[in-house]
Amino acid sequence: MKEHLLKILIVGDGNVGKSSFVQRYVNGQFNRTYKMTVGVDFSVKMLHWSDKEKVRVHLWDIAGQERFISMTRVYYKGAVGCVVMFDVTNSSSFLKCRQWKQDLDSKAMLPNGSSIPCILLANKSDLSQWAVPADRIEAFCKANGFFTWMATSVKDNKNIDEAMRSLVKEILSI
Ligand code: GDP
Repeated sequence: MKEHLLKILIVGDGNVGKSSFVQRYVNGQFNRTYKMTVGVDFSVKMLHWSDKEKVRVHLWDIAGQERFISMTRVYYKGAVGCVVMFDVTNSSSFLKCRQWKQDLDSKAMLPNGSSIPCILLANKSDLSQWAVPADRIEAFCKANGFFTWMATSVKDNKNIDEAMRSLVKEILSI
């Protein structure tokens, strides 16, 4: 049995649903949240990927450090994938995604020098008052090097596992 250890980051503005996402994703699994001295938390989830492979996901949440936008290199070190999240009802959280992606691309890269796979998540999609239309999200996603985007709802448990599976699949295919 081969075991992959994947450090995956989750970034985005405060209040978009990052820690709720992490809680939902790891819920029901054996996990612990580790309080880090550098001001980030990480949670662990095991995935039975195939008959021959297990995946241990370390999901790093920036835990209230969002105002810094520019995160410390410790946070990015060794990361192999990233979730950039915004709140679909809040256009300023969407506009900030460009900066999150740029900070990521300047500090996190794969050993071969390319940028790490990144998925864009439009959270709170259960709410009716979307401030950002889907075609704009799609265009932004393509223009900024995300491999895909998805509308999620942590509240309704929509696309949480699907988003993480899609990211893990992308990481393992590289
Ligand atoms: P963080 O600051 O990005 O970690 O955001 P939190 O996880 O603390 O969530 C901020 C607020 O948004 C909380 O009140 C959550 O209950 C709420 N929230 C998170 N996800 C959703 C969602 O998918 N739909 C709705 N309606 N509310 C959500």
